[in-house]
Amino acid sequence: MSKKNSYIDVAVALPVHGTFTYRVPAALQSSVTPGKRILIPFGHRRVTGFITGYGHTSKVTDIKDILDVLDEKPLFPKTMLSFFRWIANYYFHPLGEVIKNALPGGLTIYDHVTLTITTRGRQALVRKQTAAADKKVLEALEQKSCTLKKLSRTIQPFSPSLIRSLERRNWLICQQTLKVTRTTPKTERWVAVNDKWQNVANKLPKLSKARRDILTYLTDVKEISVKNLKSKFPTAPRLINILAADGLVTIYSKRLYRDPLGESVAFDRVPELTEEQHQALTIILKDLEHGFKAHLLHGVTGSGKTEIYLQLAHRIIRSGVPVIVLVPEIALITQMERRFRARFGERVAVLHSGLSTGERLDQWMRIADGAVDIAIGARSAVFAPFAKIGLMIVDEEHDPSYKQESGLRYNARDLALVRAKLDGATVVLGSATPSIQSYYNAATGKLMRLTLNRRVHQKPLPAIKIVDLRRMRDLRGTDRFITPELRHAIQATLQRKEQTILFLNRRGFAGFPVCGACGKPIRCKNCDITLTLHRNSNAFKCHYCGFSKAASSACPACGSDHIHHLGLGTEKLEAAIHRLFPEANVARMDRDTTTRRGSILKILRQLKNGAIDILIGTQMVAKGHDFPNITLVGIICADLSLSFPDFRAGERTFQLLAQVAGRAGRGKRLGRVILQTYNPAHFSITTARQQDYPAFYKQEIAFRQALNYPPFARMVLLRITGQDARHIASQAQSVGELCRQIINRRKRLQSITILGPIEAPLARIARRYRWHLLLKSPHTGPLHKFVHELVHRHSNLLNTPHVRTTIDVDPYFMM
Ligand code: ADP
Ligand code: ZN
Ligand code: ZN
Repeated sequence: MSKKNSYIDVAVALPVHGTFTYRVPAALQSSVTPGKRILIPFGHRRVTGFITGYGHTSKVTDIKDILDVLDEKPLFPKTMLSFFRWIANYYFHPLGEVIKNALPGGLTIYDHVTLTITTRGRQALVRKQTAAADKKVLEALEQKSCTLKKLSRTIQPFSPSLIRSLERRNWLICQQTLKVTRTTPKTERWVAVNDKWQNVANKLPKLSKARRDILTYLTDVKEISVKNLKSKFPTAPRLINILAADGLVTIYSKRLYRDPLGESVAFDRVPELTEEQHQALTIILKDLEHGFKAHLLHGVTGSGKTEIYLQLAHRIIRSGVPVIVLVPEIALITQMERRFRARFGERVAVLHSGLSTGERLDQWMRIADGAVDIAIGARSAVFAPFAKIGLMIVDEEHDPSYKQESGLRYNARDLALVRAKLDGATVVLGSATPSIQSYYNAATGKLMRLTLNRRVHQKPLPAIKIVDLRRMRDLRGTDRFITPELRHAIQATLQRKEQTILFLNRRGFAGFPVCGACGKPIRCKNCDITLTLHRNSNAFKCHYCGFSKAASSACPACGSDHIHHLGLGTEKLEAAIHRLFPEANVARMDRDTTTRRGSILKILRQLKNGAIDILIGTQMVAKGHDFPNITLVGIICADLSLSFPDFRAGERTFQLLAQVAGRAGRGKRLGRVILQTYNPAHFSITTARQQDYPAFYKQEIAFRQALNYPPFARMVLLRITGQDARHIASQAQSVGELCRQIINRRKRLQSITILGPIEAPLARIARRYRWHLLLKSPHTGPLHKFVHELVHRHSNLLNTPHVRTTIDVDPYFMM
């Protein structure tokens, strides 16, 4: 046994900073490797830890022994630790929790192992063959089976190696209830004609016409699936068996991929690049050998960005290094997966929330084992366990869903750059509507900007017509929102048998229920927000804490049951569209209709095969889908995202409008967009109408500079919350004072500005009162030094039994 394994460094998945040294008992020394999980005593508890390295005999005297090694193979390569450390440091998050967050959920196999005593185990008890420790365990199982987790709590002392020794003696059995589900490959029968046919074609006069036709056809197409052949020659399945017996054709099975929309994916041909694509690719390839380099690929929708990703990925994996592709959401991941599989076949893994736990684990281990070259997934795929990557692609890099809003509040787009830098890899950030941050980085030389101005097939972008909603104020009910202009356009689209998308960024039926008697809005009892009526589930719901109550509830203030349902949501819009176009097939896509796994894909499938005429939805419908028969997009109210008290409201609005407009006219027919707004002159709206990103950027960046917002300042948001309104207000004041004192004392921290503390725009969520303290500085260095000091020296003020402070670095959600 090598000596180095007797001590190891361990990160624990608990809110404690730093790593800890543990001793490894001799029996376990051969199985400790960085990247594996272990079970350790920590305080009075047993917790999971991650081996981060081999430790030195430490000066600490009371070093404890690890209890067990939980994994056969490392879950992540040792090389990723520097990435994890960077994250822990940058986001002020414990290393063990960073690692835990990176790993796929469902890994806590400990919860999933059930122990059952065997007949031999019972006999051993009766015959008193058991040692004291064995006996305790077996007796605990005598009445009924028990999970490992529960047993580890009730039996003292408990050790997993004890369980294993019992298992070896067949005194108990361990059953895993969680199974790693291998995704079984689907295959399909294919048929190809043999050379022999050419030689004997004229010598077989007795060959029936049907057989001869099939052979002639096969000579033409070389190979085809039996299924497709059958659609041309209904008797083919029987006939080809005879032909195969005669040695004229060969039947074989071929691995088949079906994309989630149900179509088989065949290997595609690599197209000739357009001039613009070629230029962009050449520039990226030129720098490939020179270590880290980051590009911003700014290309209008349909300009062929994905084709560039594919060709680039091909070059990288040919040189033996893997590629990660980040895509913001599940429906787009499956589109990307389809195109990558068509090019690269099996050497692709996908990671996203649409997979079952077992499937996700399987995909993860395939990456860790080096069985794939490419990982495609949502934001968490930035943690795909490759030892060293060569290329990181972030598609739709502007998408806010790259920011995680709970636990480890990271931004996957930013981490993609960090990881690539650590590995000396290339990064491509792609978007039709880049984030202000990235475009600014390109302007200042941090990113190399590459532009694709034209759509591949020269398809023009859709024409956008603006409708001024202020003129509709006198109309009643939903007529104010389904304006005559829009109604006629929908009618005409239906008549042409084409499809319409209606976009409204608010779900539910009515978001502003008001009492008709006393005039008070109906509010959530836990939050500082009005409830939304959801007619389909017959309830008022809170979109922030999940509280709900019966739709028939009376006004909590005066008891009247006369409630007006003001405010427009997707449900109400759907009902109105049903009334206006009773013959149309209408579907809705928002968080309420897509909670079940697979439901988004089901809607997309129906959209694709024409079962839906009108699709109503929230920003879910804005994202990247490519359906040729959608020729009309209606934006019901472009202003909803503008009115948010958030400095990114303009950026978000421009992106949403430009993206949703991009859904129209992807096929042969020209698309049309009707954009309804109360602010027709707002620059986010006028520039989105012209699809003029540079013009939007120019105005927006001036505004950011004038108000000293990102990208001109870095920000850290301290969110101080608690259940007692007065206490939390005064606590927030104390934290504010402390911050000001620290900064005034230190010259080097003078560049930091403190805003607040102020009550958050959403002053109460889930019964917790919320205060914000916003820290800004032009430089990351001092800001981080300052927060570091705050977290490590004053955590007693930030977190008490009654106060919780979360630290959000580079925050997005400012409410
Ligand atoms: P983007 O990712 O910018 O939206 P895509 O890469 O999806 O654009 O390209 C749009 C369409 O054009 C796709 O159907 C794609 O297959 C096709 N395409 C892309 N590049 C070429 C090319 N060089 N020649 C022919 N077709 C192309
Ligand atoms: Zn009332
Ligand atoms: Zn609530």
